Amino acid sequence: MGDEKVNQQTVEIAKSVKRVLETIPPGVILIAAAKGRTPAEVEAAIQAGVTCVGHNYVQEAERMIGVVGTQVQWHMIGHLQQNKAKKAVQLFDMVETLDSWRLAVAIDQRCAAINKVMPVLVEINSGREANKTGVLPKDVDDLVRRLSELQHIHVQGLMTLGPRFGDPAKARPYFQATHEAFERLAAINLPNITMRYLSMGMSNSYRVALEEGANIVRIGTGIFGDRLEK
Ligand SMILES: *Cc1c(COP(=O)(O)O)cnc(C)c1O
Repeated sequence: MGDEKVNQQTVEIAKSVKRVLETIPPGVILIAAAKGRTPAEVEAAIQAGVTCVGHNYVQEAERMIGVVGTQVQWHMIGHLQQNKAKKAVQLFDMVETLDSWRLAVAIDQRCAAINKVMPVLVEINSGREANKTGVLPKDVDDLVRRLSELQHIHVQGLMTLGPRFGDPAKARPYFQATHEAFERLAAINLPNITMRYLSMGMSNSYRVALEEGANIVRIGTGIFGDRLEK
């Protein structure tokens, strides 16, 4: 890519970050969803005010963190396989996609080995059939109760993708259901569980998610522009 084009891209990314930051209330964390982007694109977003970057893939995240560094927080936002847990706990400041007891045990053991406590969000499959990852709403209370026993993970809230409908208004009931689970779990007051973060909403749906109580939003195309699906 020529310098001219890179500069143009940096300017566009900076504008987008500023626009998004202006539309989210103070106290809400903006995550730049970085899958498929280059380190230069991510650095442009950081210069414009992004403090937290999300990645879906452990290996790509490792390469990106090697270039961009730990000046920002790194969140795992993709489906995490157990065999990647060891690498993931070294790289990430939070895993937003905890979706099974077995994965929790794998993370807990890997963290114990390096004396770390991993902040995690439990991913809710609020759209049910619409996507396959995440815990069904009916199963989340049981899972969170069990998670409160693990010493090297700390549950700090819930995350959901919601169904990928074109019309963001259709995501509202799924965000509402996730918020209800969040409030219900907060009220139980389990040891070692802090219901602090509700991560919901992407580029097309984050405004609706904010109305339904999100305090983390994860935005990719709204910052970096369209990307080729992979
Ligand atoms: C890609 C991705 C996003 C961002 O999606 P956009 O539509 O590009 O804003 C948010 N969350 C997760 C889990 C993602 O994989």
